[in-house]
Amino acid sequence: MSQPPLATNVNVAAKFGCPNINQPTPQTNMKTILENRPALKAVIYQIAEVTGYLWQKGWAERNGGNITVNVTEFMDDECKAMSAISEVKPIGMTLPYLKGKYFYCKGTGKRMRDLAKEPMQNGSIIRILDDCASYEVIADVNVVPTSELPTHLALQNYLLETGSCYKATLHTHPIELVAMSHIQRFLKGDEMTKVLWSMIPETLAFAPLGIGIVPYALPSSVALAEATLEQIKTHDVVMWEKHGTVAVGKDIMDAFDQTDVLCKAANIYMCARSMGSEPDGMTTAQMKEVQDVFNLPKSRPC
Ligand SMILES: [Zn+2]
Repeated sequence: MSQPPLATNVNVAAKFGCPNINQPTPQTNMKTILENRPALKAVIYQIAEVTGYLWQKGWAERNGGNITVNVTEFMDDECKAMSAISEVKPIGMTLPYLKGKYFYCKGTGKRMRDLAKEPMQNGSIIRILDDCASYEVIADVNVVPTSELPTHLALQNYLLETGSCYKATLHTHPIELVAMSHIQRFLKGDEMTKVLWSMIPETLAFAPLGIGIVPYALPSSVALAEATLEQIKTHDVVMWEKHGTVAVGKDIMDAFDQTDVLCKAANIYMCARSMGSEPDGMTTAQMKEVQDVFNLPKSRPC
């Protein structure tokens, strides 16, 4: 069977919000914003480290997955005076708590494995304008942010509105968790959370809010954004049925760890099932003992 022409692949990609992965990387005409800003550089390099892990784990095929991190605290007067290097673009919604805030965003159509090597060529820093409904890119090059930007920024708006110390959002495709989301019984109530918590005590300890379920919705849709926002109020990680996860964290490593802990439990569940029977799992009493002894939080700690 002959390969479809490249243009067909590009058109399919565009429907999923990644216009043309074959576009050449825009050329930079300025020094990097990371120069002489070690704290900002550390945050960006942590993002690069995590995107390397996402690729190694097989969670980030092609340009799969998205990241935003609130970097406002690292923006000095010189950063705030930087002129835009893109035109003003609409977010698609008005988010009042984002006025004047700055975010690092993975670029649309960019690969996580490329971002791991060159974070400022595969993502960019954006500034939210005073209308709270539009943004512009300020550094380093004009990389268009992720197609899921409205969902990510809606989550960031919620975190700021509630005074949360959380700064990062991560969407990725963890294999075992996505596989579980294809089985209806795991999507009812908190069944998936209970099964995952019961695999090893650490799952309960390090993902104490469990995993929220969002029924299948079209990628990039308003319905998906709204349902995700609702679930993130009570969970740190949300499962998009038959798609992937969205996690929030104090930083991007925290968001990755939350996802990783839950995916490890899903992997253990599947390993047990592959030996021929349903795993016993820790009992309800054993799980309650862990919750009580370690005084695990029942809501986001900050
Ligand atoms: Zn996805």
